[in-house]
Amino acid sequence: MIDIHCHILPCLDDGAQTLEDATAMARQAVRHGIATVVATPHYMDGIHWNEGPIVHRSVKQLKDILAAEEIPLQVLPGQEIRVFGSLMEELQEGKAIPITQSPYLLLELPSEQIPDKLDDLIYELQLRGMTAVIAHPERNRAFLRQPDRLLELVERGALCQLTARSILGSAGKGIETFSWQLCERNLIHFIASDAHDCGRRGFRLLEAYDAIRKRLGNEYCEYYITNAEHLVEGRVIDSLEPIRPARRFFSSLLFGRK
Ligand code: FE
Repeated sequence: MIDIHCHILPCLDDGAQTLEDATAMARQAVRHGIATVVATPHYMDGIHWNEGPIVHRSVKQLKDILAAEEIPLQVLPGQEIRVFGSLMEELQEGKAIPITQSPYLLLELPSEQIPDKLDDLIYELQLRGMTAVIAHPERNRAFLRQPDRLLELVERGALCQLTARSILGSAGKGIETFSWQLCERNLIHFIASDAHDCGRRGFRLLEAYDAIRKRLGNEYCEYYITNAEHLVEGRVIDSLEPIRPARRFFSSLLFGRK
């Protein structure tokens, strides 16, 4: 299994605070069947400024330690990038970086609103052959009020990553219900842990996949697992067509569910 969003790099953000925290998180990830994680420390969220070279250095350091401790976890570089005005320049300069060598960029939105410039940003990224992956849209209250706004962004080419603990109910009933609705409408392309520690915000990816398998069927589970593999390999994501509420019926046709 591949986890495309976690905060395992030590001392860079609100995730692992020490090297010991990071190795404990790595051990937990392995125990939960994860073979590869993308380390996505916050960038430009107003508090954390982990530019590309810092991330690459930290990934190298952690990989050396995991190798020395014989923890079989592959760690790839990435960032969780807060949407901001000069992102294209920051990308050009290598301060903002995509997930590993792929054309996919993990973007974080403010929790209360959808930035006006997001549509333009998605388009500008596309002109450069890149794709925006919106991190945990289920936690954004503006999407909760207007889910069709997320549909528009997906139709414009954005992809979406849902967080495991959201669908498991740990972020509240409202977010849990919304998470399922987004999955059922094919507005989610990836599931990730967004792990910050080994406790409350640990790796719960396997648990989330089990819940998805039970409720939506194995096809959805395989879809998310395959998409994560394709993402880190820089391949095209073969996404399911988003479903508008009135056309929900087609969901069952698509996967033959009742
Ligand atoms: Fe995160």
